[in-house]
Formats: sequence, structure tokens, C-alpha cells
Amino acid sequence: MVQVRGLHKSFGRLEVLRGVDLDVPAGSVTVVLGPSGSGKSTLLRAINHLEKLDRGHVAIDGELIGYRRSGDRLYELKEREVLRQRTGIGFVFQNFNLFPHLTVLENLVEAPVSALRRPRAEARATALALLERVGLADKAAAYPRQLSGGQQQRVAIARALALEPKVLLFDEPTSALDPELVGEVLDVIKDLARSGTTMIVVTHEIGFAREVADTVVFMDGGVVVEQGPPAEVLDRPRHERTRAFLAKVL
Ligand code: ATP
Ligand code: MG
Repeated sequence: MVQVRGLHKSFGRLEVLRGVDLDVPAGSVTVVLGPSGSGKSTLLRAINHLEKLDRGHVAIDGELIGYRRSGDRLYELKEREVLRQRTGIGFVFQNFNLFPHLTVLENLVEAPVSALRRPRAEARATALALLERVGLADKAAAYPRQLSGGQQQRVAIARALALEPKVLLFDEPTSALDPELVGEVLDVIKDLARSGTTMIVVTHEIGFAREVADTVVFMDGGVVVEQGPPAEVLDRPRHERTRAFLAKVL
């Protein structure tokens, strides 16, 4: 499970996260909604320790991310340790971020071999099974530029899965896609949800949130304004700010 406690993060004088608490139980899906600039991407980046924290902590299955505790102080881990932790935290970006000079298969094999020291033959077998799962077994030898945006994003999801992460983070995984390609990517994420993958998904796809989320979190101004099951937060929001946001995106 992912535990975020009292998370504070500023950039200069701009306070972007102002005390965020979040619990994502193993096997559950949390969808994070909120207006532009509310701190959603910063929250995901902080969970992955792509951002240092000013205060608070992130723990996954009880292990502090990015820090170790000594007495009542936290000390930042060495880069090598952080990289090891990050192999357990899949991150899927808006813009796919595939390696352009590697084939689809090589994109999936690279990290398990280099970071997890998996034998190459084993990594290839896993990669092919994952491509099958996202419906792209026939694209193993293609290069990313030869794929549609939706296909590239499905490869990016398969690549994240190849590291067998404890949790998958998605930052607006469909917002760079043409509308007709959104569905195929959401279908893959739905399939992962059904099979019990722990996920935090930042998205504006309210229909997806309603269908897939166990918990919907609404952020504004660097705090969690409200959270709960989709039927509560989306259909009976308690806060005016949530209502105003939903009125705009629905
Ligand atoms: P969007 O929906 O537009 O993606 P968001 O909720 O993901 O927004 P963040 O990207 O987390 O918002 O940004 C929150 C605020 O922090 C914004 O005002 C942004 O400009 C600022 N910010 C983010 N990263 C940095 C940085 N590295 N340096 C300075 N300011 C930053
Ligand atoms: Mg963002």
C-alpha cells in the first residue's frame, strides 16, 4: 500500500503541496482530479521521489521512499538506492517517453535486464507476454515512431509492468491522444484494475473514474479537498470547489 503523510512541497515561494495525506490500499485504484496547477503531477513526482519533500513522507509497503529515518530525522538516500526503489514504482507519462532508438520489445527488455539483472531470454519472454496483454504482440519489432499514440502509450504501460511494480502511477495518460485513441488505452488500464494492480491515476476522464476508481481524490490549491468512492465525490460532492470543478469537466 501507498501511504502519503503530511506532504509539503514548495518551489521557491510557491507552495504547491500544503499537507497532503493519501492512502492507497494494495490492489485498489485511486483517481486524482483537480484543476491545472493544483499539484497533481507534483504529488505523483513526489511519490516517485522525482521531487524532494520539504516535509512529510511517502512509504510503500512500509518502506520510506527517498529517505531513511535516523532518530526523528530523515536523511535522503543515495541516488543508487532511490533508483532501486523506483524500479518498484511504475510511472506512465502523458507523452509516452519510449526510447525512440529501441524497438518495442527492446523498450520492455532494457530495464529488467539492466536494473533487475534478469536474464535476457527471461526478460524477452515476459516482454512478449506483456505485449500480448496490451494487444501489441505483432508490434514487437516496430520502432515507437511507427506506432500510433495509443499504441505507444500501451507499450509504455507494458514497459512499466515489466518491472513488476508494487504500484503504477499515471499522469494524464490519455490527454496527449487523439480522441479516438483514448478508449484503447483506458481499456488496458481497466484490465489492470480488474487484475488487482495498485494504481494512482491522474486524469480528467470522469467516466473512467466512475467505472474504475475505488477512491476519487479531488485536489485544489495543494490540498486534498475531498475524497471517497466515486458515487460520493462525483455524484454528491460535499464541497463547493469540487462541484465547480465537476461542472466544468462534465
Ligand atoms: P496540470 O493539470 O496542468 O498538469 P497539476 O495539478 O499537475 O497541473 P503541477 O504540475 O503539480 O500541477 O504544478 C503545480 C504548480 O507548481 C504549478 O503552479 C506549477 O507551475 C508549479 N511547478 C511545478 N513544477 C515546478 C518546478 N519544477 N519549478 C517551479 N514551479 C513548478
Ligand atoms: Mg499535471
